[in-house]
Amino acid sequence: MKLILLGPPGAGKGTQAKMLTERYRIPQISTGDILRAAVKEGTPMGVKAKGYMDAGGLVPDEVVVGIVRERLQQSDCQNGFILDGFPRTVAQADALNSTLADLDKNLDAVISLEVDPEALVERLTGRRTCRDCGRGFHVTFDPPAVAGKCDACQGELIQRDDDKEETIRKRLEVYRAQTEPLVAYYRSAGLLSAIDGMQDIQVVKNKILAVLAAK
Ligand code: ADP
Ligand code: AMP
Repeated sequence: MKLILLGPPGAGKGTQAKMLTERYRIPQISTGDILRAAVKEGTPMGVKAKGYMDAGGLVPDEVVVGIVRERLQQSDCQNGFILDGFPRTVAQADALNSTLADLDKNLDAVISLEVDPEALVERLTGRRTCRDCGRGFHVTFDPPAVAGKCDACQGELIQRDDDKEETIRKRLEVYRAQTEPLVAYYRSAGLLSAIDGMQDIQVVKNKILAVLAAK
């Protein structure tokens, strides 16, 4: 299964991608996770990306396109992959088409998760992420069994630096201007399935599985 999860920040892409990796045994490729790891390690790419990320903007296309091109060539992507947070611009989508053509692969589906803007702010301000394994929670909608601790590995749950209300609003604006056009882009390519992302995590998961089962 070769899949893109499309949707604004907070739509539930990461949450659903983690479930789909277990179901299909294919990797989640989150450009946000890869960039955050680079920032943490202080690599040259991380140093370059940090300013854009802290400001709620997009990291330049050539940087993320290079990350994904390299990642898709790794052996664990042989049977498929879930792209989460990539592509985010039409230029990235075009570059992905060329990469996939070079690798003789085709996308099976693009799932667009649709969520109201105010719900996105509530989801992102309440999001908590495990410092060690990266699993995501929500203080109200998906709380851990013990406050502040990851259910999976007991790691400390932290709030992402860019999940502050001001930065969230900026990220949502950037989504509308630069990423939302990809909904029409993939619809016209005949690949798009829109899913109501306002429902419970499990309900959304079942709807995605039903769409993918029909592919
Ligand atoms: P994205 O990867 O699209 O930015 P996440 O998967 O990290 O979004 O989800 C953002 C926050 O919303 C997380 O705290 C997550 O627990 C919560 N969340 C995800 N899906 C839902 C849902 N269907 N209903 C309520 N909260 C959700
Ligand atoms: P995410 O974890 O997907 O919310 O991404 C966090 C931040 O990483 C974004 O706000 C961007 O600054 C950067 N980022 C992640 N993916 C991309 C991408 N495909 N293109 C440009 N910037 C990205």
